[in-house]
Amino acid sequence: MGFDCTTCGQYHDELPLCFGSPAPALWLQMSEAEREQRGQISSDQCIVDNEHYFILGRVMLPVVDGPESFCWLAWVSLSRENFRRASELWHTAGRESEPPYFGWLQSSLPYSQSTLSLRTRVLTQPLGERPLIELELAEHPLAIEQRQGITMARVREIVEAVLHG
Ligand SMILES: [Zn+2]
Repeated sequence: MGFDCTTCGQYHDELPLCFGSPAPALWLQMSEAEREQRGQISSDQCIVDNEHYFILGRVMLPVVDGPESFCWLAWVSLSRENFRRASELWHTAGRESEPPYFGWLQSSLPYSQSTLSLRTRVLTQPLGERPLIELELAEHPLAIEQRQGITMARVREIVEAVLHG
């Protein structure tokens, strides 16, 4: 499953189909001291100033000529109420029957236009699966790719950008 990289000219052993951001954009802008004072973060949740509530989800891009979808792990901000609700249901079987939550995308993904603060719907998944993030219909390249799918050639382009960006 490797590929010849046009950026560095080497063969890479793997073509990863999932990339993530370690924290919401706001968190990444804060100093260590600020983080300690103002917030808390786990692998899937983050709170800043008891005012900004984030969870980690997945933006799936169908790959039209490939075996599986490509996935951006990305953070979205939720209202306090929806964040509390999601936390309450964290370990509850059947939680996927929850209606979608509104979320603002809070991860900066490598696209020609900023991906910050795009409007999304956050769909709760069965236990053990991170929520799915659906972009609202918009003429943003990421939203178009989610709607129309991408090719394996585009996957290689994204992977090269992330590996060498
Ligand atoms: Zn390379």
